[in-house]
Amino acid sequence: MHHSRSTFLTGASALLLAAPAGAASPARLDEHATCPAQTWPEAKQRLVYGNQRFVSETAAHPNQTVERRVDTVPGQCPFALVLTCADSRVPPDVVFDRGLGDLFVCRTAGNVADAIVIGSLQYAVLHYHPPLLVVLGHENCGAVGATLDWLNGAPTPPPSIYSVVAAVSRGVHRDMNLEAAVKANAAHVARTLKGQPQISALHVVSAYYSMTTGNVTFF
Ligand SMILES: [Zn+2]
Repeated sequence: MHHSRSTFLTGASALLLAAPAGAASPARLDEHATCPAQTWPEAKQRLVYGNQRFVSETAAHPNQTVERRVDTVPGQCPFALVLTCADSRVPPDVVFDRGLGDLFVCRTAGNVADAIVIGSLQYAVLHYHPPLLVVLGHENCGAVGATLDWLNGAPTPPPSIYSVVAAVSRGVHRDMNLEAAVKANAAHVARTLKGQPQISALHVVSAYYSMTTGNVTFF
């Protein structure tokens, strides 16, 4: 079925307004469809609401149906990009209570951004036009902790691990405690990404995930 652009945008906007908690499901996308216009405050609010559901154990698991899976085969319109740590305790789709096609996610130890991460994010910006990028650090991050250890005299790790430590070290100071260093690293990565072509058009925000409370704090 063909949807005109105006019909598609109207429908998608109506869904966004009616269901910020995430029941919104874009109409079937064909190769020529474009993603509906979204604003970063709307996108951020969806993440805030989803995190509140996760924290309060009222997760709605939106967009995880068979229908959503099939609907998103032809194309995706993620409303936010997320760069976070590879840590198994920090899955953004769970922490933000989202589903299929909602978040475009890159994960590396210490949520550092190398050329491939930057290229992945730029690709998503060019093709899906999301309004928001979140760089999400987390409580008790091993990569940031290892970096603080190295800065305070621990032996240099093997080369590929050192590449992570070296990247994190650019945003932190040896005298920081772990939480402060995690936040400083996320902020540093966010500033770096904001300076990149394509990504510079987005609202870029850093955030901190407390595993103790489940809360994500944006800063
Ligand atoms: Zn981590």
